[in-house]
Amino acid sequence: MTKKQSNDTLCVQAGWSPKKGEPRVLPIYQSTTFKYDTSEQMARLFDLEDSGYFYTRLQNPTNDAVAAKIAALEGGVGAMLTSSGQAASFFAIFNLCSAGDHLVSSSTIYGGTFNLFAVTLKKMGIETTFINQDASAEEIAAAIQPNTKLLFGETISNPGIAVFDIEKFARVAHSNGIPLIVDNTFATPINCRPFEWGADIVIHSTTKYMDGHASSVGGVIVDSGNFDWDAHAEKFPGLTEPDPSYHGLTYSKAFGKGAFITKATVQLMRDLGAIQSPQNAFLINLGLESLHLRMSRHCENAQKVAEYLKNNDKVAWVNYCGLKGDKYYDLAQKYLPNGSCGVVSFGLKGGRDLSIRFMDNLKLAAIVTHVADARTSVLHPASHTHRQLSDEQLIAAGVAPDLIRFSVGIESADDIIADIEQALEA
Ligand SMILES: *Cc1c(COP(=O)(O)O)cnc(C)c1O
Repeated sequence: MTKKQSNDTLCVQAGWSPKKGEPRVLPIYQSTTFKYDTSEQMARLFDLEDSGYFYTRLQNPTNDAVAAKIAALEGGVGAMLTSSGQAASFFAIFNLCSAGDHLVSSSTIYGGTFNLFAVTLKKMGIETTFINQDASAEEIAAAIQPNTKLLFGETISNPGIAVFDIEKFARVAHSNGIPLIVDNTFATPINCRPFEWGADIVIHSTTKYMDGHASSVGGVIVDSGNFDWDAHAEKFPGLTEPDPSYHGLTYSKAFGKGAFITKATVQLMRDLGAIQSPQNAFLINLGLESLHLRMSRHCENAQKVAEYLKNNDKVAWVNYCGLKGDKYYDLAQKYLPNGSCGVVSFGLKGGRDLSIRFMDNLKLAAIVTHVADARTSVLHPASHTHRQLSDEQLIAAGVAPDLIRFSVGIESADDIIADIEQALEA
């Protein structure tokens, strides 16, 4: 075994290793279909007896190279790209849950994920109990029911910037025979690798830092390969009992550590079809090649912005887990010692109306429904991403009505702070 390469090297090099005479840069395999010599060869692919490409809805070489890079960055056994982060969350859950099942989620999560769990999964017969992620292990365990199939949380929550205690949740999950799924979008594997703390499955919206340039919507599911499905076979029949849609193949037997991600690909993606386009996968890969450089600049700039805001008497409060004295500072030191993310949330003295006026006065920072890309951007979640939530749900999600989500880009920190300053003066 060669020494595991650092994530800095994996960002640039992992996933695509050209052989003699092949393109140095990952090619875009812009083809729906792949050719075989005999009918028998193709039939074996349909029965999962051979591996190989036959139709891009199931697998595509460009997508697979990018998935392999992300799996290497997270330290997982395999990954699958999806058309969006929302699709990644849905597929990860639906790979384990059917009608009649239940999951326990931190309430401090992205608004879109909250809606997915609270409204859409519920219509499909999958119930969610939301809990405060600062709850004790005993309180978390008390929310688990006989039909609970997983625990869910975000490493750093969007937009509250709350840090998730991965080890605490992993311990409760495993002592109850269920996996922990972590949305690692804001931290990225550069700043946190949840598998090292006991998470079993990681998902990302690649739309954010991984792409990094706001060019393509996408998602990914990464499997650690660590969860022993057969040890809890009665809870996970989809993985441990024969699949009639593949002539009775059993994923845990046929694919071992790769059972979860293989089922997600060959069953859910086959049937639900939310694939990443190879063109967009190519763009995500370009983003990944500089992820390590961008993340450190995002964090450095965000730290300066957070400190500026904290010392400004027009600012009522600031949430940034890199600030000493922040509620999540200690957890951030543990899980995110090299930096957290570029997103800072804060409120102004004068409340919601003043927060909105301040945003309208910004010039360099743009009001966009986006976060976590190279350009500094700003959003008011209570009016935008979390608009569907009631006041109680907003508070449970860690979204104060006056919260401004400020996504610090990789421009000059001095220019970003000057923009904030002029908007506060105005
Ligand atoms: C944006 C986001 C999502 C949803 O991703 P899309 O790519 O927009 O579908 C999920 N989780 C987090 C933490 C996000 O920031």
